[in-house]
Amino acid sequence: MEAWGAALYGDPCRGCGFDWSLAPFSAIETIEGLPQRLSSVIQGATGEERGDGWSVAEYVSHVADNLRQWAERVNAARLDGQTRVAGYDPDELAAARGYRTIPLHAAQWSLTLSVSAWACTLRAGLNKAIVLQHATRGIQRAEDIARNNAHDGIHHVWDIGCILGGQP
Ligand SMILES: [Zn+2]
Repeated sequence: MEAWGAALYGDPCRGCGFDWSLAPFSAIETIEGLPQRLSSVIQGATGEERGDGWSVAEYVSHVADNLRQWAERVNAARLDGQTRVAGYDPDELAAARGYRTIPLHAAQWSLTLSVSAWACTLRAGLNKAIVLQHATRGIQRAEDIARNNAHDGIHHVWDIGCILGGQP
């Protein structure tokens, strides 16, 4: 079984301090606040700044695509009854989508669209108590997905803050 969530990152997360006891609807509100949170962290940045891994803009593209990916999966269960999902390789997606060619403000635009679609979908998924069967993580309830995706967003904004030399 693949470790994920609190088992992988610690509770609270050893990096960004994310509290895994966050209520699922609060996790959705956290993500709805992410574009604003990101904007305040990247003030004055070009998006090309990078540490050991992705650049600032590439991180933003990843968060946007991760939310999009998971919203689609929840909708596959909610609208089509398809609950089996598997992992995807974020680096392969980055290569296929050409994250290096997506500048910061375009990536922020994508993030805002993804946040809106994700929040609407996850609220519906929580209300319907959607449960996915993940090939390597096991059972993923809508509330697990809400928290896990909220952590991904918060953690990568924290990563971006670290790259830009702000307070983690
Ligand atoms: Zn974290």
